[in-house]
Amino acid sequence: MRVGMGYDVHRLIEGRDLIIGGVNIPHTLGLLGHSDADVLLHAIMDALLGAAGLGDIGKHFPDTDPQYKGISSIKLLEHVAKLIEEKGYVVENIDATIIAQKPKMRPHISQMEENIARALGISTDQINVKATTEEGLGFTGTEAGISSQAICALTTIYESSVMVADSEVRPCDRCQGCSRQ
Ligand code: MG
Repeated sequence: MRVGMGYDVHRLIEGRDLIIGGVNIPHTLGLLGHSDADVLLHAIMDALLGAAGLGDIGKHFPDTDPQYKGISSIKLLEHVAKLIEEKGYVVENIDATIIAQKPKMRPHISQMEENIARALGISTDQINVKATTEEGLGFTGTEAGISSQAICALTTIYESSVMVADSEVRPCDRCQGCSRQ
């Protein structure tokens, strides 16, 4: 198993959409960036790339490259999913936190999890998104920006097939409750 972590920050300004986890959230301010500035997906991509030993999103999607201007970060996440797969890894799970004073993230979290799971070809059980404020402190507290942190675990295709084979050979060793002989 390999783990990776990611962290990202974007500035909040007027006149931009607020897109987090692929959800366009109604708000008076939006995040500034070369792409759609989806701070959550950027942290998740850095965690995935880190776990796979593939560098970071700045290396794969430079913000000086016009082809990424205004691009949906869901598209970038789909590309990261391909890179991970090409290296022979599968996503075990992702846990992430959005740090924002406003607006409330809770109504949008399940949609974010669905968007991320779809882009990565995994189940929503494997992705957990949380949100917190920093109690009015620091740059998130004053609504100057929003940050996000993510951590993920990857296994190799080999490890995950061994685990499946193991559970198929000895299903009853660990099972207390089924009637199977
Ligand atoms: Mg970013």
